[in-house]
Amino acid sequence: MGISSLRINGQRLQTTLEDMAKIGATPGGGVQRLALSNEDKQARDLFVQWLQDLGLEVTKDEMGNIFGKRRGKLDNLPPVVSGSHLDSQPKGGRFDGALGVLGALEALRTLNENDIDTIRPIIVVNWTNEEGTRFAPDMMGSGVWTGALDKDWVYQRTDINGIPVIEELERIGYRGKTSATKWPIHIYYEYHIEQGPILERNNKLIGIPRGIVSLLWFDIYIEGEANQVGPTPMEGRHDALCAAAEMILKVDQLPRKRGGNLVATVGAIHNYPNSRNIIPDKVHFTVDIRSWDDLHALNAWNNLKREFKVIAERRGCSIHIEETSRVEHAQFDQRLVQLVSDTAQTLAYSSHSMVSGAGHDASYINQIASTAMIFVPSIGGRSHVEVENTSWMDCEAGANVLLHCILKSANETG
Ligand SMILES: [Zn+2]
Repeated sequence: MGISSLRINGQRLQTTLEDMAKIGATPGGGVQRLALSNEDKQARDLFVQWLQDLGLEVTKDEMGNIFGKRRGKLDNLPPVVSGSHLDSQPKGGRFDGALGVLGALEALRTLNENDIDTIRPIIVVNWTNEEGTRFAPDMMGSGVWTGALDKDWVYQRTDINGIPVIEELERIGYRGKTSATKWPIHIYYEYHIEQGPILERNNKLIGIPRGIVSLLWFDIYIEGEANQVGPTPMEGRHDALCAAAEMILKVDQLPRKRGGNLVATVGAIHNYPNSRNIIPDKVHFTVDIRSWDDLHALNAWNNLKREFKVIAERRGCSIHIEETSRVEHAQFDQRLVQLVSDTAQTLAYSSHSMVSGAGHDASYINQIASTAMIFVPSIGGRSHVEVENTSWMDCEAGANVLLHCILKSANETG
């Protein structure tokens, strides 16, 4: 059998995804595997088992990133690396992240059963805490590994209960001994669901991102003054929640006001003491701003920040702003993007050039190595929700594109 007719096993990929989706399964058909939780540990254990079953050399680094290496004929050449993440949002979907990790695993299973050797080694990876929902910022494992984030700072980041990352890494047994420091990568591929409606709307099968938008995360802390709601007149109140409410609408209005390619969202809010008969004195909320144009996003944020300060002052509240994450937009290697496009065409799959509006570990890896991504359609464009879905046929098609991209890159000598 010629290498060009090689295909992954769609049924096996489906079974593998279904087995993984049992871990942290939610009643609504999704999964909940928050980073470094018991469910995350179970998912990691199963993944490591699968890597070992394939005879791969497994490494866990001090950030809990897991690598499974398949040897190459010239084993010292920089490897082709592919993967994504196994953690999820609260009540998240079964495909986000898992498809990229298990799609790469399926590609290696296919190579193994067909006794196909490659010149370069191939590594499948699960990055720690891509989602950033339990511990912010997101893309923590790849961020430290590439040197974009400081490990000791990241170790001390806490969840809502004040538990630091380092404690949870140790508790679940995934604080490895190997340093979480970058080594040379020949090519990095990340296979992922689109998480948006573009492919479905255009009736296309394979999405080929030119890159990933920039991402700005802020945490906003407002402090007012608590008091009994009945006896306290409306005049002279310092209501932190009302200040936050005004600010949140400013975030929502920002993209319309500033134009261009921009989205802005408040996704989380904590109100204190959160009692119906106490004027709220503390509010913490998040701001997420994304754009293909880094400067446009920054200017929009600076404008927003000024408006926040005006609102806080008018309401007699103090405001404290923390920049939690800033990731520049990632422009992928055009030669590699073309290779993905050509591969899809050779396999007779329709494809569509686009930009990723979601953040991915590929954003950080792109800073140190040639990187590209492969997208498949999200049914109804839904993601980060339990009903997130992608047809099994589409999962199989994307994995075939990944397999052949990996094969080509892993047989490059130069
Ligand atoms: Zn993801």
